[in-house]
Amino acid sequence: MEILNMDVKKKIALVAHDNRKRDFLEWARFNRDLLAEHELFGTGTTGKMISEKLGLDVEVFKSGPLGGDQQIGARIAEGTIDFLIFFWDPMEPHPHDPDVKALLRIAVLWNIPVACNRVSADFMISSPMMGEKYERQVIDYKKRIDGNSD
Ligand code: PGA
Repeated sequence: MEILNMDVKKKIALVAHDNRKRDFLEWARFNRDLLAEHELFGTGTTGKMISEKLGLDVEVFKSGPLGGDQQIGARIAEGTIDFLIFFWDPMEPHPHDPDVKALLRIAVLWNIPVACNRVSADFMISSPMMGEKYERQVIDYKKRIDGNSD
């Protein structure tokens, strides 16, 4: 088991599909002050929306369908994003569905907190653990891969 340290200031990625953006914005507005205590990242349209409408600093990646989800996934694997709030749309297929699946997979693999709907996001953002350091345990899959590789 590998231990990765999460700081008090979490590195939070924000992603919302088009049909979920209004709900997401409402959630983010309500929680603006809590979000402001952390480092924020977002896919193109979501990140821009949060930065412009709520006046928060957000590092904005490419739009989801243009690779933004994959950029976030890469940052999770590198350890430079450690929290994901992802309001994905359960009712419509998307051209980047494989990227969505890949992002959710990588988030589980690296054992980061993931909220995919409003109630989960509410519970997570209001947790006392948001204001504390945390030792994130990551299963050492590399050992398994290396063990099977020859
Ligand atoms: P967007 O991307 O923030 O650029 O809309 C989100 C997504 O579709 O994954």
